[in-house]
Amino acid sequence: MNNSVKNAEERALICKKDGKPMYFVEETEKMSNGQRRSVFYYKCPICGYRVEVEQIVINVSNDSIIVKRRIRKK
Ligand SMILES: [Zn+2]
Repeated sequence: MNNSVKNAEERALICKKDGKPMYFVEETEKMSNGQRRSVFYYKCPICGYRVEVEQIVINVSNDSIIVKRRIRKK
């Protein structure tokens, strides 16, 4: 737990607009078709500027699980 927090701080991004440290956000939503979508991004607390890091879509159907993962490249 402590290690993951430390790592998150080390990887923290700085907002391009106002130079403030951005915080890490994880959002998971359950869609009506049984899909689950997770989005990971950094957000600036001052201006709301957002940098998406990763998106994961999980499909569960007929005992099979399909994971689609999209990582942002600079
Ligand atoms: Zn900002």
